[in-house]
Amino acid sequence: MKRFGAIIVVFLFFIRPVSGQGSVSLQTGKDQESVDLLVRYLKIDTSNPPGNEIGAAQFFGEIFAKEGIEYRILESAPGRGNIWARVRGDGSKRPVILLNHLDVVPAYSDAWTSPPFGAIERDGFIVGRGALDMKSLAIAQLMVMLRVKRERVALSRDLIFLGTADEEAGGRQGAEWMVTRFPELLGGAEYLLNEGGGNLVQSDGRVLAIGLSTVEKTPAWLRLTANGTPGHASVPRQDSAVNRLVKALDRLIRWSPPLKVTTAVDQYYQSLAPLFGPQDSHRYRSIRRELEAPDFRQMLDSDPAAKALFQNTISVTMLEGSNKINVIPPFASARVDCRLLPGEKVDLWIREVAAIIGDERISIEPILSFEAVASPVESQMTEMLREVIGRRYPGAIVTFPVTLGFTDSHYFRRLGVKSYGFSPFIAPPQMLGDGFHGNDERIGRQVFVDGVEIMYQLLEPLIGRH
Ligand SMILES: [Zn+2]
Repeated sequence: MKRFGAIIVVFLFFIRPVSGQGSVSLQTGKDQESVDLLVRYLKIDTSNPPGNEIGAAQFFGEIFAKEGIEYRILESAPGRGNIWARVRGDGSKRPVILLNHLDVVPAYSDAWTSPPFGAIERDGFIVGRGALDMKSLAIAQLMVMLRVKRERVALSRDLIFLGTADEEAGGRQGAEWMVTRFPELLGGAEYLLNEGGGNLVQSDGRVLAIGLSTVEKTPAWLRLTANGTPGHASVPRQDSAVNRLVKALDRLIRWSPPLKVTTAVDQYYQSLAPLFGPQDSHRYRSIRRELEAPDFRQMLDSDPAAKALFQNTISVTMLEGSNKINVIPPFASARVDCRLLPGEKVDLWIREVAAIIGDERISIEPILSFEAVASPVESQMTEMLREVIGRRYPGAIVTFPVTLGFTDSHYFRRLGVKSYGFSPFIAPPQMLGDGFHGNDERIGRQVFVDGVEIMYQLLEPLIGRH
């Protein structure tokens, strides 16, 4: 690893898996089955908008029906399918939920070298929208369900598979709808595994760290609206809606919210410390003090992703004014994507934003926001992961990244379900294509097959009756 200053490890969304170490003992038949299922699944277009996840829910439903696994398909709106399935345990422990989202972000086929929903295999990769985010992980979860059912594994807990609609747009028609309308289907779960985490693997395949994410930054998406007297643009008005909105946004983007170290970020840096030599690891262990150091601040200024771990952020993304060049409109509005550190309160944040803007005639309205809830960094899940990782990748450590993006996990954390983001696809970045939401989204075939096995190895001790 490089020197401390340059080495803040930030996981924008989820992390990257790579393969290379450890031995895999899967039978070829099973490997082929999981690859075939992934290819079939990737061909189902669930671009959100509009989502149309019902095709994906039916795909899983048919498999569960054939295997004799109890399942339900639930539609939150026409075409917005969710899928739930369960393999029963003896009830001595509370259930584990395997959570995945059925939708994907849109793909602009002109920028792809093969059709985004063609799901082709090429040069050792499986290519298609969702290959990383997160249809591959959904198939790994599915394979755990099939394996425990087929092998009649004695379970101490129910194993619940939950595929939801609408995650890429915030989850209102998916995870939120499911937990609100059908809380009984969650069975009072103790644990949940979802996308997230993030692994640190060198390009030569050496695995340094496996990420288990316990908390995410949370959105505070705001709409700012200015009203004013409309008129003809040939008679300028200093206090027009557009002018006041522009001035407000200017004040907002010039502002740098205060830097702070939250408990979650402190824990993350503590967990990274073993990767470094004595001097740097000492700095990682005392990140609160480090934040006061000028060279550290300088480093943050040159690395927006690292800096975002230490402050609430503001991105102005959408603007609306007149639809005619010569008309001063009666209102102008902007949408602002703010992301808050774990522990921050949305209403306090809105007050801070209002104070910076300093124009009472501009209304600030939240579009999407929720509080961050963290799951404990130490739990049986963490122990299991350390054990599995220790066996497969000696020397690798488990870290607790704070992700800058958000997933559906918050809907479950707030119910007290210990929810973790983890990717079993442990491989160097080059085996994970251009990453989440990228063009030619892809995953190495072997990385995927290994990940399917790792997922089972991680879960088996947690769910099995030993
Ligand atoms: Zn995702």
